[in-house]
Amino acid sequence: MKLDTALLHGNFSGDKTTGATLVPIYQSSAFGHPSAEHIEKIFHNKEAGFAYTRISNPTVASFENRITFLEGGIGSVATASGMAAITAVFMNILSAGDEIISKSSVFGGTLDLFKDFERLGIRTRFVDEITREELEENINGHTRAVFAETIGNPKLDVTDIKRSAELIHSFGLPFILDNTTATVCLVKGIEKGADIIINSSSKYINGSSNSISGVITDGGSFDWSEEKYPSLKDYVRFGKFAFTAKLRNDTFRNLGCCLSPMNAYFNSLGLETLNLRMERHCSNALLLAEFLEGLEGIREVSYPLLKSSPYSEKAKKQFKGKGGGILTLRLYTRERAFAFINRLKYAVNITNVGDTKTLVIHPSSTIYVHSGDNEKRKAGVYEDLIRVSVGIEDIEDLKEDFSQALGFVNANYTY
Ligand SMILES: *Cc1c(COP(=O)(O)O)cnc(C)c1O
Repeated sequence: MKLDTALLHGNFSGDKTTGATLVPIYQSSAFGHPSAEHIEKIFHNKEAGFAYTRISNPTVASFENRITFLEGGIGSVATASGMAAITAVFMNILSAGDEIISKSSVFGGTLDLFKDFERLGIRTRFVDEITREELEENINGHTRAVFAETIGNPKLDVTDIKRSAELIHSFGLPFILDNTTATVCLVKGIEKGADIIINSSSKYINGSSNSISGVITDGGSFDWSEEKYPSLKDYVRFGKFAFTAKLRNDTFRNLGCCLSPMNAYFNSLGLETLNLRMERHCSNALLLAEFLEGLEGIREVSYPLLKSSPYSEKAKKQFKGKGGGILTLRLYTRERAFAFINRLKYAVNITNVGDTKTLVIHPSSTIYVHSGDNEKRKAGVYEDLIRVSVGIEDIEDLKEDFSQALGFVNANYTY
């Protein structure tokens, strides 16, 4: 099944009871059972079924199954947000005294979470790139996982998934990949060797910004039986399902970070048009980046496919000619960046990416407000930088809008 077909039919055939083309919103907290024996079986994983929506729900399960198929994993768990997904993944495998290695270009919320982990005795060491040298320097007896984003947001650095996975595995560690900005349409992380995939489905998967959510997909590829993962000891008997079994039966249900059935329904709707939208996001972003690159008053345009990007070759190859829907601009000063944002007609000033509409934000004063100067620099966040999540509008309207805003800024603010 090719991707466009898989988005509609993969692990999905509508609602069997009624023939409805979509799975209904089972807006129910709990599910009744014919006997005490029956619900006992469900609690012991001896029979498939539903008991309580914090643990699982039919509408949510349908969304999870579709994601599992698309990602080529063995199971998925949908969560209340992308941050909940990241939290649950690490809580599932870590204990006090453990360490994580993360690329420094990751999302601001994730940086904040890693800071919170310090209080629990979990330390994160940051690397700029996943290279043998960086790993050798930072991996020690406490290291439990390596984390990266496929396309760093907003640095727009591209992780070579296959090469990184090979390196990380050579140290006996799992590769946890946040694929939110690329999505399965640009690259299948599991196929390239990542062990756990995280998506903030609030973004491109949902597509129209109507629900916050996340989803974790297990590739079933990592062997968690080693002593360094004591939290998974009781689940090793599930073999390649150990991670997901522990997540579903313990970490996820106890954190209480379940996805609401309504939001799962919206995500399933969004999923069906994901590739169509991604194609337009990517083509618009490339056209807009090329257009802006030549204009006066812009210090730098970043987009993975631009020749000026140090990642262009890697991006072209890994994403089969696509570059994602996000670009960044530097306008020399913070004042110019603010004036530019305020002058745009179509682009909404908002902290989000992946909407059908074009979105802009000044990351330094918003998403990275809790980060220090050094952290910001390493994450590619500068005072004059604007992040643009390019929407699916007509490209001529976007070019016209961005050029009128730039003209206004150039006429009124020096640099
Ligand atoms: C938005 C985002 C998150 C967090 O997801 P939420 O759904 O907002 O909690 C994590 N990683 C990346 C790359 C993101 O863009």
